[in-house]
Amino acid sequence: MVGRLERKNAIVTGAAGGIGLETTILMLREGASVLMTDISDRGLATALQKVNTVIPPNLRTGKVETKTVDVSDESQIEAAVSHLDSWGGIDVIFNNAGIMHPRDADSVECPEDIWDRTMDINVKGVWFGSKHAVLGFRRHGKKAGSVINTASVVGLVGAATSQLAYTASKGAVLAMTRELGIVHAREGFRFNSLCPAPLNTPLLQDWLGDDKEKRFRREVHFPSGRFGEAIEQAHAVIFLASDESSFVNATDFVVDGGMTKAYVTPQ
Ligand code: NAD
Repeated sequence: MVGRLERKNAIVTGAAGGIGLETTILMLREGASVLMTDISDRGLATALQKVNTVIPPNLRTGKVETKTVDVSDESQIEAAVSHLDSWGGIDVIFNNAGIMHPRDADSVECPEDIWDRTMDINVKGVWFGSKHAVLGFRRHGKKAGSVINTASVVGLVGAATSQLAYTASKGAVLAMTRELGIVHAREGFRFNSLCPAPLNTPLLQDWLGDDKEKRFRREVHFPSGRFGEAIEQAHAVIFLASDESSFVNATDFVVDGGMTKAYVTPQ
């Protein structure tokens, strides 16, 4: 059976855990070759072990490699994209790395250095990934390319649980991705945002910890009554990365169990 991403070369940023790791596994299952990148080399080593256990080399047609990349450093992103030149050039980039800093807060309490660091990773990192994907697509004369940028539902709806820098950064990802999708549409390059709801991944769950009140404050807004799972986001990314979504461009692709459409949730 031919995979949905057969012969595609993909980069995943923030691949050491959560959505990035689940997406890497699904991409390999669907026949892609994947360069897993992350700021944490130890995280990448552990993630690669998991990948090799879940989908061993004899069960995949593509290859998988790792590279330490801080997405806020353009030269590192450029090097990651160039790494795929010898594979036949980049076809897909999932700009997924992001942070929600514990010291992020409301307009009064958010420190400026946390604001800047959040913007550097969550916004500039996505810009660099998008920019070098475009250059890579062009370098190899690609007639199609897919860029998926991880935003968040907080770019669509406001929340009284303030994380101002994070929220502003994800709104920027939505606006930037929309524009990129339009600008590059005639070249065949698609740009879509993924908008996850709060998930069962370390990014949020470590921050929530054992605080039942903080947890309930979020869970009550889910029509389904639960946080999302990283794998549920990964399935959406596979669709956006594949040619099945060839007419899906510049969209805010919301995977939230209905959360942003709920006025009152079931009891
Ligand atoms: P995660 O913390 O499990 O994974 C994020 C990864 O990004 C980590 O492996 C981390 O090491 C890496 N990273 C951090 N800074 C980096 C940098 N400068 N360069 C490269 N890699 C870096 O979190 P996740 O939940 O899988 O988050 C993935 C994306 O989804 C993020 O952009 C996040 O904002 C977004 N998101 C998450 C949730 C949620 O509830 N978890 C909800 C909406 C959106």
